[in-house]
Amino acid sequence: MNLMTELSPALSTIDQHHIDRRRYPHGVAFMDGQYLPMSEAKISVLDWGFLHSDATYDTVHVWDGRFFRLDLHLDRFLAGVERLRMKLPYDREKIASILKQCVALSGHKSAYVEMICTRGSSPTFSRDPRQAENRFIAFAVPYGSVANKEQLERGLHVAISETVRIPPNSVDPAIKNYHWLDLVKGLFDAYDKGAETALILDTNGHVAEGPGFNVFLVKGGSLRTPAFGVLPGITRRTVFDLCAEIGLAVTAADISRDDIKTADEVFITSTAGGIMPVTRIDDTTITKGQVGSITRRLMDLYWQKHADPAWSTAIIYP
Ligand code: PLP
Repeated sequence: MNLMTELSPALSTIDQHHIDRRRYPHGVAFMDGQYLPMSEAKISVLDWGFLHSDATYDTVHVWDGRFFRLDLHLDRFLAGVERLRMKLPYDREKIASILKQCVALSGHKSAYVEMICTRGSSPTFSRDPRQAENRFIAFAVPYGSVANKEQLERGLHVAISETVRIPPNSVDPAIKNYHWLDLVKGLFDAYDKGAETALILDTNGHVAEGPGFNVFLVKGGSLRTPAFGVLPGITRRTVFDLCAEIGLAVTAADISRDDIKTADEVFITSTAGGIMPVTRIDDTTITKGQVGSITRRLMDLYWQKHADPAWSTAIIYP
């Protein structure tokens, strides 16, 4: 009898295979030089990425068989890797081709694609991060959105949590990271209040961001998004680009709780869902509970850009 069956006598390899197939989304991962089904992409529990959140990552999406703004995601990822003093085993072109291959092999025409670099672990279990062998992982799974179809039509109900986002002088939010305990606490606070998602605060008590998204308000025809203590989101950047195209004023500056509750329109932005309307914050109704006209216009334009070769890259499927 081997150790595995002694520890879990009822779980045969075949049962395990079925459980894994149900538990994992359909998709393809790349790690240690190989493409694998999602259920087989596993890392050591000794990886510092797991033990200490010592990792950076980026998420890009594929829509209708095309990456959206892949170059911007690669720029942000590579800058984060460098700032964390990690080394990737592949250059930018190779990473782009690995991401394309994960999507092509998965067959997904709409996908959520992640690239990750973890500190890895040291062959001698040294506690010195310089000795660790950094690890690159990528995967493509079906596209997912912060807001579901119904929420996109009626607008999200968001609660503002008292939780403060980890300060930028502790963890630089420009390095996309997995330090999510503050964001997850915010989510539980929001659920306790009957809301659907959360916004949390920066160290000065202003509105910062939410679990996986930035936030914008519209007031008197101009847009504003927090400047401090937030991830410079690619969708946030895309809103700036779209506003420039259609002549709307947009700035990055502090947003107080009062500012956001008295805004004409509010929306959140993420690679997972794009531009998503908010129509209720705590007990305050925004835009009379309707999706605002500027939000709607930006949402339409955002999705139109997914077919534009200046903003997107086609994937060649086998
Ligand atoms: N803020 C945080 C904390 C995030 O994790 C994310 C995305 O995952 C965002 C904002 C939105 O960034 P992007 O538009 O690049 O997806």
